[in-house]
This record gives sequence, C-alpha cells and structure tokens, in this order.
Amino acid sequence: MADLAQAREWLSAATRVAVLTGAGISAESGVPTFRGEGGLWKEYKPEELATPEAFLKDPRLVWEWYNYRREIIGKALPNAAHKALVQLEIRKREYTLITQNVDGLHDRAGSGRQLKLHGDIWRMRCTQCGANWPDRRVPLPKLPPHCACGGLARPGVVWFGEPLPDGMMKEAEHAAGAAEVLLVIGTSAVVYPAASLVPYARHGDAKVIEVNTEDTQFSKDVDAALRGKAGELVPQLVG
Ligand code: NAD
Repeated sequence: MADLAQAREWLSAATRVAVLTGAGISAESGVPTFRGEGGLWKEYKPEELATPEAFLKDPRLVWEWYNYRREIIGKALPNAAHKALVQLEIRKREYTLITQNVDGLHDRAGSGRQLKLHGDIWRMRCTQCGANWPDRRVPLPKLPPHCACGGLARPGVVWFGEPLPDGMMKEAEHAAGAAEVLLVIGTSAVVYPAASLVPYARHGDAKVIEVNTEDTQFSKDVDAALRGKAGELVPQLVG
C-alpha cells in the first residue's frame, strides 16, 4: 500500500485526473455527514427523510429538515481541501470533479464545472410543471415552498431510490475509466451508483487514492488509503 509521498508523485505525474468527493470533505467546514456523529435530526434518520415516499407523506416535515440543513450549510465556508482541488483543476489538462455533495461548497471555493450526482440543495424543482430554479434564502419564508405555477416545490436533489440526472453517471464513468488517478475523498462509498466509480476506475487502470478518516469497503483494494482529515491531507497531496 502506497504512502502519501508515493500518492503525491502519482497525482503530480498524471494528466488525466478524476476526483470523487463525499460528505467527509465538508465535515471540517461544519457540515455534518450522514453517517457518523450528527447524523440524526430529531428522531429521524436521513434515509427516512430523503425519499420520494417521505415527501409524498409529509412535504412540510421533509422541507423542515432541508430548511435546517440549508441553515447549517449557509453558514459554512469552503475548507483547505475544497480550495486545494481548485489548484489541482488549474494544473491538469483533463480534470473531472464528481461530487455526491449537495452543499455547493465546491462552487464557493471556485471549482469549475462539476458532475453533481446528487443535485444541489440551493436549487428547487416544481413537482407539477418541472421548472428548476436557484433559491438561496435562509430560512425559507414559507414551508413548504411553491412554484410560480402554484405547484409544490421540492429540493433540487436526488433522493434515495431516485435515478441520477440524465447521462451524468455515464459521464462520470467515462472520466473515472479514462483517468490515470482517481482521488476519492470523504465518502463512505456505500451509496450506489456513485460508489461503483471506484471499481470502474480500477478496471481502467487508474491509481486510486482514498482520503478518509476511517476505513471503507474499498480501502483494502485501493492503491493508497490515506487516513486523516481531508483539510490536512488534500493540500499536502496536491502540493
Ligand atoms: P457519508 O456521510 O456516508 O460518509 C462520510 C465519510 O466521510 C465517512 O466515510 C467518514 O469516515 C468520512 N469523513 C468524515 N470526516 C472526514 C474528514 N474530515 N476528512 C475525510 N473524511 C472524513 O457521506 P457520502 O459517502 O457522501 O454519502 C452520503 C450521501 O449523503 C450522499 O449522497 C450525499 O449527497 C449526502 N450528503 C451530503 C452532504 C453535503 O452535501 N455536505 C452532507 C451529508 C450527506
């Protein structure tokens, strides 16, 4: 298993790089992850609220949770890991940032286009007419929010059991398959299909570098499993 110095060399030599980020990259910005400490809101688990069924049953409850999350995320600032990825993007000829996060902290750090596999908490979508618009108000003035057409609005995110945005997974697979290095930061790698990008990259011969505070199901199969905080390790990796 390679160490930080070796991983740094691979990353520096690569011209095609893909990065997959999860909630752990935003933990040091003060955004709670789903798994681990702070994963519960009232007596509900995220898996019980981030679903189409929960929204159908009680849209106001689901919106209260999203309103609460927007309040936390709205106060958060990008950390050293988000910023280091902007530097990496500038240096690489082919660079694809694939994120499972909905918090928009990569945008705030200055990253360019991303594949936001799970959408964006700062966007709304009408359940009636399908309109899609940005809304950064915190807190939202009225719950649940509505569209100009009168239809009920939902968060612009992908819920458990829903398909990813059209074509996005294909693009992510292409980037992971073509990359010389896949950097996997702060994801427990249990949410599919995002987690399938790791074996995908390995079949394409990429070196896979994992940055996480804990072991994941992929740790033993990656080329470098770096244990520690993203805000400390990613800047060192990128150099
Ligand atoms: P997860 O909550 O399942 O796992 C977080 C991972 O980050 C864990 O493996 C943990 O060990 C690691 N971690 C925690 N702190 C870290 C740190 N400082 N540095 C490095 N690693 C750290 O998150 P996931 O794998 O992204 O999957 C959960 C789903 O939840 C995703 O679909 C995502 O959309 C959603 N989510 C998003 C946010 C966000 O946008 N910030 C927050 C919570 C959940």
